[in-house]
Amino acid sequence: MTRVKIIGAGLAGSECAFGLARRGHQVDLFEMRPLKSTAAHQTSNLAELVCSNSFRSSNITNAVGLLKAEMAMLDSLVIRCGTEARVPAGDAFAVDRERFSAAVTSAIAAEPNITLRRDEVTSLDRGDYDFLVVATGPLTSQPLFDAISEFLGRDGLYFYDAIAPILAADSLDMSKLYWKSRYGKGSSTDYLNAPMTQVQYEAFVAALLSAEVFAPHDFEKAAHFEGCLPVEEIASRGIETLRFGPMKPVGLEHPVTGERPHAVVQLRKEDLSDDYFNIVGFQTKMRVPEQKRVIQMIPGLENAVFARFGSMHRNTFINGPRHLRPTFQAKTDDRIFFAGQITGVEGYVESSAVGLLVARYIDALSRNAPATPLPYHTALGALGRHVAESNPDRYQPSNVTWALIEDVIGRCRKIEKRDKQVAKALAAIEQKTS
Ligand SMILES: Cc1cc2nc3c(=O)[nH]c(=O)nc-3n(C[C@H](O)[C@H](O)[C@H](O)COP(=O)(O)OP(=O)(O)OC[C@H]3O[C@@H](n4cnc5c(N)ncnc54)[C@H](O)[C@@H]3O)c2cc1C
Repeated sequence: MTRVKIIGAGLAGSECAFGLARRGHQVDLFEMRPLKSTAAHQTSNLAELVCSNSFRSSNITNAVGLLKAEMAMLDSLVIRCGTEARVPAGDAFAVDRERFSAAVTSAIAAEPNITLRRDEVTSLDRGDYDFLVVATGPLTSQPLFDAISEFLGRDGLYFYDAIAPILAADSLDMSKLYWKSRYGKGSSTDYLNAPMTQVQYEAFVAALLSAEVFAPHDFEKAAHFEGCLPVEEIASRGIETLRFGPMKPVGLEHPVTGERPHAVVQLRKEDLSDDYFNIVGFQTKMRVPEQKRVIQMIPGLENAVFARFGSMHRNTFINGPRHLRPTFQAKTDDRIFFAGQITGVEGYVESSAVGLLVARYIDALSRNAPATPLPYHTALGALGRHVAESNPDRYQPSNVTWALIEDVIGRCRKIEKRDKQVAKALAAIEQKTS
């Protein structure tokens, strides 16, 4: 019988423990609450939802809707308990948070193969367990943070994320944008540029300065890294500061007229797809409606569709592409897995999904079968693709989006395309259900 030690009984740890126990494996699940809590958790329940009560869209043509559908097909505990605790919220899958985590807590308590141990773990020592799963989330306790940091080495573990908005390519007005890398270095189609006149720039800075931002949680009040300031914070340092920072026009003269704009916003292709662009240096704390209002003032971005909004918050995460396989195993030790938000996925559903995947991979290994990642054109497989195959120099946590899911359809009308992608993904998961 395979024995597995799981650290952290949040969403990922609980999902993983349940998946393993149901397959007959013996699990010791370690949770430090209530002996020691995090700055965000309030209860001693397993799988506590620390902020919103939403699992986001239930529309299957939305990437997170597809992810939930795939998880349900693979008997996810989180989706089962979420469905039991669901409350009406239109298109969104929202839950009664108390009922949800109570349901997960009692499902884990009812599993004879799981022993819940209320204790803080401070090392990555696997002892005589066959596998170790680290699922300690965005607020991993400090002693374990230090142990993981030492295990991975320099540049392995981060504690803050800074995300710039991502926009759909087909929503951009290309007549106002031009392709160019600064000073013509690199490929000519790596960057799109949105030039601004002085009047446009000054109106844009004024809008940034008046935008409403998210208030930081107490434990997030630490100073930002100077190299990674929110765009509105840069703007607050003086009218010219953005023009000498992310909106610098030097080396970006218009390729046809040769004119240098007053300021330029650069858009860079997302790693895994040509269909999406992120806005370079535009990590932000602006509230979502404000992001939309301000970003759409940029010439060419008036009708921009956001695949992901920007954000900045406290978050422990590993540089996945440097240290993890698409099966979430550590590259240096196949018996150590990471699961949940600590791998660089973002959100309740995505974190739970990684727990579900890790249980499957450990089960395969324990039967001497290979741990084969799910196909990248499924929403579940796309999470492994993001974690293992993104650019390690620019790795940032991500929700599941269509930008991460491999395109196996090619060019066709967007609405038809989504339907075809969903059908292919569900068919691929169906094959894995036996
Ligand atoms: C303030 C805040 C607000 C958020 N809001 C949202 C939101 O609205 N929507 C959303 O989708 N996502 C939100 N997130 C992200 C959310 O935390 C994750 O999506 C999700 O909870 C991650 O699941 P997880 O299982 O990886 O980690 P968690 O659910 O955090 O579980 C980790 C568990 O490990 C335990 N633990 C930590 N260290 C140790 C240790 N050394 N030994 C033993 N146990 C340990 C913790 O007590 C915790 O129970 C938010 C995160 C934060 C910090």
